[in-house]
Amino acid sequence: MSLAGTIIGIPELQIERIDHQKNLEVWASPARRPLCKHCQHQHLHIKATHQRTVKHTRLGNKVMTLHLRVPKYRCLKCHRYFRHPFLGIRPR
Ligand SMILES: [Zn+2]
Repeated sequence: MSLAGTIIGIPELQIERIDHQKNLEVWASPARRPLCKHCQHQHLHIKATHQRTVKHTRLGNKVMTLHLRVPKYRCLKCHRYFRHPFLGIRPR
């Protein structure tokens, strides 16, 4: 697990930007592509990417806000779509 992943509590995140001014804001995206959640195929095409804001936790008296890029994949084998499954975040 990366240092940032350890702080945030989500493994396999790639940190893109950190803004420290008032509160802590972190922009991140998945560090690696998953397997297809339907058929376990490994060749996926990124169809679109959504940004999702997750107010995650407090570090001392700072609120840390996490901005996650959530890719939507299309499986090249079964042709189904799914969103990146982040470990440590519950689906809405
Ligand atoms: Zn598939």
